Amino acid sequence: MSVGRGTAGYLMHRARLIFQDGAELTVSVEAGQTLLESALAVDAPVRYDCCTGSCGSCVVQCVDGTTVVDSTHQVPVNADELAEGLRPACLTRLSSDAAFELPYSLNAPASMPAKHSAQIVELRRAAPSVALLTLKLDRADGLAFQSGQYVRLAAPGVGEARAYSIASTAAELPLIELMIRLVPDGKMSRWVQEIAKVGDRVKLQVPLGSFGLDDRARRHVFVAGGTGLAPVLSMIRSLRGRARPALLCFGCTRRQELFYEQELAALAAAMPELEVRIAVMEGADGTLRSGTAVSLLQREDFDAETVCYLCGPPPMVDAARKALTAHGVASKAIRAERFQPGG
Ligand SMILES: Cc1cc2nc3c(=O)[nH]c(=O)nc-3n(C[C@H](O)[C@H](O)[C@H](O)COP(=O)(O)OP(=O)(O)OC[C@H]3O[C@@H](n4cnc5c(N)ncnc54)[C@H](O)[C@@H]3O)c2cc1C
Repeated sequence: MSVGRGTAGYLMHRARLIFQDGAELTVSVEAGQTLLESALAVDAPVRYDCCTGSCGSCVVQCVDGTTVVDSTHQVPVNADELAEGLRPACLTRLSSDAAFELPYSLNAPASMPAKHSAQIVELRRAAPSVALLTLKLDRADGLAFQSGQYVRLAAPGVGEARAYSIASTAAELPLIELMIRLVPDGKMSRWVQEIAKVGDRVKLQVPLGSFGLDDRARRHVFVAGGTGLAPVLSMIRSLRGRARPALLCFGCTRRQELFYEQELAALAAAMPELEVRIAVMEGADGTLRSGTAVSLLQREDFDAETVCYLCGPPPMVDAARKALTAHGVASKAIRAERFQPGG
């Protein structure tokens, strides 16, 4: 372990950042500084968004060293994930030199987050509590995002921006498709439901987040609850033509809330390597299974070269992680995005 002294005489540690493509950067972390602050101080291209522990964009895997996580904030990982080494960089301080794996490549084709303006070109209700919103960016030149990333949407008259995962792929730019769950008394939900119409203008920050495909995997398993389908759909669409087997387990609460069924059937028909399983908790009929997305998983769905991607409300993601662990899937082979309320 090497311990240095910062310019103000503080104890300093070194953090090795190991990117998915094997590229590495080492940054100095002064006492009191978070891992994220120290990375940003030297303009390291790390992904982050809220800096308060709610979005989960800056979560990294600690593979060496001792760290302290500030538990006075909301923490975007659960106790099991903390025990397995997942660390939100915005809340993590170092007690020794340490090494962290980042779930994206240093040379990723994603641009830095930037502000954009856009117009609503389509808005339709896919289920009683799900709206599909298609936006056309005024300018998309220079913008590149990775499937799995999200936008922060600001709408006129809605005080706070909200995070929404992108369901479309970069190939469809300047169009961006979002899937929005309409929650009771939600500020953005109310705007989408009662005010928004085709032609309205909105502002976006994009691209954000570190959820995305692990290109090293030979097989991909996706577990999505409700509008958690959005980032997963973008990832599956981007797999077209890459001949990697993929499984999608998709669940909704009730039959009436199920959406995108026909589109998923069409996608599966166009992608022989994709298997789609759908479940609803209430109202299952002949073609649908009864249960949650998690209940659709089977032990034989995984091998040593499988990577699993979980997305949806935090309780669903936690349940899916438990089920995967019970099926013998290693923590390092699990990626998750939680749709934290107020995200
Ligand atoms: C990284 C990230 C990506 C996200 N992507 C998506 C996405 O693709 N699609 C999507 O639909 N959402 C997504 N979310 C959630 C989204 O950002 C908003 O939190 C959600 O749309 C509610 O916003 P609102 O303004 O309508 O509700 P708010 O005004 O924030 O909430 C109003 C009330 O509803 C409660 N509430 C909020 N959300 C829920 C919920 N899900 N279930 C029950 N009660 C709730 C709140 O606790 C509060 O009491 C994402 C969140 C994160 C962090």
